[in-house]
Amino acid sequence: MTESFKDKEAVQQCPNIVLFGPPGAGKGEQGCRLAEEYGYVILGTGDLFRKNLENKTPLGIEAKGYMDKGELVPDELVILMVEEHLETIPEGAPLIFDGFPRTENQRKLFNEFMEKRGEEFEVVALTAYSAEEVDKLIGRLLGRGKTSGRSDDQNENTILTRISNYEKQTGPLLNNWEQEGQYVHKHSAIGKIEDIQEWIQGIVKEYSKRVEDVLSEDTAKEETKS
Ligand code: ADP
Repeated sequence: MTESFKDKEAVQQCPNIVLFGPPGAGKGEQGCRLAEEYGYVILGTGDLFRKNLENKTPLGIEAKGYMDKGELVPDELVILMVEEHLETIPEGAPLIFDGFPRTENQRKLFNEFMEKRGEEFEVVALTAYSAEEVDKLIGRLLGRGKTSGRSDDQNENTILTRISNYEKQTGPLLNNWEQEGQYVHKHSAIGKIEDIQEWIQGIVKEYSKRVEDVLSEDTAKEETKS
């Protein structure tokens, strides 16, 4: 087999990605673009709750009460739903986590899940720290609320609660990851969608592995075990 033919056969394994950031940061949009381009499977907890609500499941109805107020849905419900959903995800598919984890309990479950799969992940954080940046997020969400049909995007007080909950409960997870030695890729959420997309594509390319490499790592792991 010639070297060039071998190269063509080698498939790139994209890195798993946690898309992190406050409401309105553009996680959903960037996730969709990555899924289209690289075949990512997205696990978006907000979308899963909305699907449950559409199907009028007890979980969806219970979650709605929290979502409408801009509060986080309690961990027990989130974790149950995520665990169930994770079972349906094909092995080996590169994953994007959109809006999960959002609390320390969820982060622990997430870390355990990745450990079980024997896989690494990249944390990609879209940030908004200054009052000016946060104002822009609020504007985006109110704009989205006019067309998305999402009731939690139509009320400024709900949006403020969501942002404040993000700052109190979710933002600190970045620090916790960093303290454990997990690198966090950070970019301001305020910018052109295309520029941010290009930045994320750079991360995907940098952290992609050739499947052959992945296979040889697995073999190495098996060999150390036996
Ligand atoms: P956004 O990030 O734009 O606020 P999402 O669609 O991710 O939108 O989430 C909408 C709502 O769903 C949140 O405000 C929260 O009530 C609920 N939710 C989504 N994901 C989680 C989660 N991981 N933990 C708790 N609540 C969640």
